[in-house]
Amino acid sequence: MSRREFSKAVKLQIIKRATPAGTLAPPWCEECGSMAFKWAIDHIDPDAMQIDKSKPLTAADGQLLCLPCHAEKTKADVADIAKAKRVEAAHLGAKAATPRGFAKVSKEKPPLRVASGVPEIMRRFQ
Ligand SMILES: [Zn+2]
Repeated sequence: MSRREFSKAVKLQIIKRATPAGTLAPPWCEECGSMAFKWAIDHIDPDAMQIDKSKPLTAADGQLLCLPCHAEKTKADVADIAKAKRVEAAHLGAKAATPRGFAKVSKEKPPLRVASGVPEIMRRFQ
């Protein structure tokens, strides 16, 4: 299922919640509390981690974050989502379609064929 996005009305609720009332100041980051001149609306619980996506997102599902806080949270979320997928795949017994990495190559040199005391490569050019 695809990722649920916040509707315009819900985004507006989140922005109003993060903006000091009665001022023209920019909204405040709901994580670090600094003024957020540039910000993003973030899913508090990553949408990829949700099992039931049938209900629409509300303002309680989102938060306004400044870009540094959003980048830090997104990095952690991406790692958590990847781990959840790995754990789920291992639990269900799914394996990779092809072996990972490169095939092992024997480090042994092939035996040099020697007939009549002259190596094969030398015989070819005689
Ligand atoms: Zn912040």
